[in-house]
Amino acid sequence: MRTDTGRVRQHNEDAFLTRPERRLFAVADGMGGHAAGEIASELAVRTLDEAALSPRNGSTLARSLADAMWRANRKILEEGGARSGWEGMGTTLIALAFADDGNAALAHVGDSRAYRLREGRLERLTRDHTWVQDQIDAGRLDAETARRHPYASVLSRVLGLEDLDGIDTAVLDVLPGDLHLLCSDGLTTLVPDEVIAAILTSGEPLVTSAESLITEANERGGVDNCTVVLVRPETGPG
Ligand code: CA
Repeated sequence: MRTDTGRVRQHNEDAFLTRPERRLFAVADGMGGHAAGEIASELAVRTLDEAALSPRNGSTLARSLADAMWRANRKILEEGGARSGWEGMGTTLIALAFADDGNAALAHVGDSRAYRLREGRLERLTRDHTWVQDQIDAGRLDAETARRHPYASVLSRVLGLEDLDGIDTAVLDVLPGDLHLLCSDGLTTLVPDEVIAAILTSGEPLVTSAESLITEANERGGVDNCTVVLVRPETGPG
């Protein structure tokens, strides 16, 4: 895991959670004035950390992750309504957890992403909840134009919305050697997927790869906070 404020911003509004003993990992990217973004992302990961998850299988786990995220949505709304300067705060959240049946569960809201490197190939596992992604899906924008679009960071869903209309979940199979990446958009708006893939396939230790990803984002401008969590589950008997 590595997080970095970047080269432009003064504050780090990203938060993360790594609980290997619970096989639970998350990244959140907060937004809001008066440091409220930091409060929102921290509240989201803390709510997840305190949640009782149901790891029996991939789908019970995915459901319990989503339940925790609905609770986080509620808490952020309540806290935001209780203090002046905090109203309207919100956060993305991507959570990955591993179940007893050998599968994994993902849940997310916003544009923090999950990727999987399997046999040298990088796959994106999440769909961004952004205005530009909606345009891509409707065939009105291509991915490269979207990446440079002035509205590229406009989110269609975050935690902290009264009318949040859904949390995306997925159940994943896990194969020996799979490497999972959770990251905030401070990485993906600057560093193309091919470059992420090249770093992750370099065979360096995970901590070095995490540092290389952050360095790459900073060398490309470092205009945002950048957080990466790399997870390679131990697989095999026991
Ligand atoms: Ca961000």
